[in-house]
Amino acid sequence: MGIAIPIETSARHMHICEEDFHILFGDDAELTYKSELSQPGQYVCEERVTIKGPKGSFENVALLGPYRPETQVEISMTDSRKLGVPGIIRQSGDTKDTPGCTLIGPKGSLELDHGVIVAKRHIHMTPVQAIQMNVKDNDEVFVIMESFERSLIFADVVVRVSPKFALAMHVDTDEANAFANDNQPTGVILKLFGGRTYNLQKWAEELQSGISRL
Ligand SMILES: [Zn+2]
Repeated sequence: MGIAIPIETSARHMHICEEDFHILFGDDAELTYKSELSQPGQYVCEERVTIKGPKGSFENVALLGPYRPETQVEISMTDSRKLGVPGIIRQSGDTKDTPGCTLIGPKGSLELDHGVIVAKRHIHMTPVQAIQMNVKDNDEVFVIMESFERSLIFADVVVRVSPKFALAMHVDTDEANAFANDNQPTGVILKLFGGRTYNLQKWAEELQSGISRL
C-alpha cells in the first residue's frame, strides 16, 4: 500500500543570507517570526521584499527563515515570464548560472547577480520513510495524485531524505493549478518500470519511436 504524501504549494518566496538582509532592512533589523512551515525549523517571516526583473516586478514577496548561506529567490515559470528572466528549474541551493534580479527592501536595495530559480518539485522525507517507500536521496520518482476532474501523475519528482525533514511534497503555484489544488491534497509514489528511477522524457521518446516498456 502506498503512503499518502501531503502535497504543499510553495508560492513565490525567498531565502536570504544575513548580509543581504541587513542591506534591505537595516543593520539593526532581524528576521521576525510569523508562522511555522511543515519542515522543522523553517518559518515564514513578517518581512516582505519587492523583486524586480527587466519586464516586471512582484511586491510583498515572503521571506523564509532562518538565514541561508546564500540568497535564493523561488518563483514559478509564470512568474519568470512576468519578471522577464529565464525560468531555470533547479533544486534548492543549486544556483550556479541562474538569473538574478533586483531586491528592494524598506532600507535599501541590491542587485542579485544569480539565485533566481524555479524549484524542481520534490518530496521531503525522513530516512525511515525512505526505507518504507523504497527510495533514496536524489531518486526521481512518479507521484500520482487525485483531484476532481484533474488528477495527474507528476514525473521527475526529486526525493530528498534527511532526519531533519517531515513528509511533504512541494510544488509551485503553476503545478498546483495544474491539478486544481484542493484543500488537503495527497499523492502516492507510483512504482513504474519495476520501481526503478525512470525519466519521463526518455519514456516519451521511446513511445514515439514505438518502444513500449509498460
Ligand atoms: Zn521543499
